[in-house]
Amino acid sequence: MSALLEMQGIDTGHDRLQVLWKTDLRVDEGEAVVLLGANGAGKTTLLRTLVGLHPLWGGSIHFAGEDIARLPSARRIRAGIAYMSELGVFPDLSIADNLALGGYFLSAAERRTQRRQMFERFPDLARRPRAAARSLSGGQRKMLGVAKALMGRPRLLVMDEPSAGLSPKFVNEVIDILRHAGGDGLAMLIAEQNVRFLDLADRGVVLDGGRVAAEGPVAALKQDDAVRRAYFGML
Ligand code: ATP
Repeated sequence: MSALLEMQGIDTGHDRLQVLWKTDLRVDEGEAVVLLGANGAGKTTLLRTLVGLHPLWGGSIHFAGEDIARLPSARRIRAGIAYMSELGVFPDLSIADNLALGGYFLSAAERRTQRRQMFERFPDLARRPRAAARSLSGGQRKMLGVAKALMGRPRLLVMDEPSAGLSPKFVNEVIDILRHAGGDGLAMLIAEQNVRFLDLADRGVVLDGGRVAAEGPVAALKQDDAVRRAYFGML
């Protein structure tokens, strides 16, 4: 497997408060990696640094062999990274407009093709394309967030807590959607506190106090005592 994303020795923080300390993170082509960590561990900061929404103090970021550490966000998106924040969609915009934004860099013809595909894949979104995103249920809104992220045909889908605010039923739905997307060879990096997401991951990385505390194949992580205590409620 070759590395699609390689973040090495990442240092950053907020004002003078350092949050990430020499953090390394790698995602291979087509691989699904779940980033676990308690509140405040630095997951959001790491993802935002990756997509260029947060300044990098030190370290390197390579994507598909290219040094992207100094590129503006728009260039990183164009290079094939899609980012879904915790909110995921613009609630006041329509479903169709949210999708159009996700396909901002496509030609008009490509955008139409992609939108048709998204409507086929997520029929709930096709029913009332002019309705505001806020009129959707929590689960449908996440669905729209994923569809919006997929519009630009990314190679890596980066997601911050897709389970946030969702009932267990909708969490299952989102996991199914992502498993399907992963089946198409899309690589994923998902920050989550909900361990159910490990079911769709090839590998887990545990962040603690801005440092990588454990990482490995999911089956091995589940045997790690510290990880079991912190995330599986068992000794
Ligand atoms: P959560 O699951 O709560 O989002 P997280 O693992 O994503 O947690 P971050 O949001 O990256 O963690 O936060 C890491 C640290 O940075 C925390 O100590 C947090 O208080 C601090 N922090 C986050 N955002 C800011 C900010 N805008 N200004 C100052 N400090 C911040």
